[in-house]
Amino acid sequence: MGNRRQLSQITTMVIHCSDSPNGRANTIEDIDQWHRERGFKRDLKLAPQWQPQLTAIGYHFVIELDGAVRPGRPLQESGAHVTGHNHDSIGICLIGRDQFTQEQWESLRTLVQSLSDPSSPPHLNIRTICGHRDLFKGKTCPNFDVADWLLNGCTPPRANILPEVRQ
Ligand SMILES: [Zn+2]
Repeated sequence: MGNRRQLSQITTMVIHCSDSPNGRANTIEDIDQWHRERGFKRDLKLAPQWQPQLTAIGYHFVIELDGAVRPGRPLQESGAHVTGHNHDSIGICLIGRDQFTQEQWESLRTLVQSLSDPSSPPHLNIRTICGHRDLFKGKTCPNFDVADWLLNGCTPPRANILPEVRQ
C-alpha cells in the first residue's frame, strides 16, 4: 500500500525543469522545501536510510547547475511530479526554466542512458522517455522537446543551453 512499488512497474522517465530563473543555483534542498510548502510528503518508513533530510521532494533526481545528480525519492517510492503517471515513472528535474548548463545536459544524458539500459542496475524496463508536457497538456515543462533531443543523439538544442556567465 501507500507509495511503495516494484521496480518492474517503472516504464517511463519524465523530464522536468524547476521553473526557477535560468542560472540561479537552486538545489534539491530548495525543491524539497517548495514541495513541503505545497503539502507533498515522502513515506520515510519505506526507506528510512535514503536521504532522510529530504522529507517532501516529489522527484527521484534533481540535476543542479554544476551537473551534480542529486537523488531525491528512492525508485521504490512513487514520485509526486506528473498527474496520472506517478506510479509508473521516474521524475528527473533540471534546475532552471528553459536554459541549462552544459554540465546539466551532460549529466542528463548519462543518467537517462544508464537508467534506460535494462542490462545495468537497477535493471529497469523503460519504454518511454518524455517531458512533463507530453503527459500533461497545458504544461510547457521542461520547455524543450525531449523526443527531438533523443533523436539528435542527446545534443542539447542551442536555445536551451545557458550562455557562459561573463565576468
Ligand atoms: Zn514538470
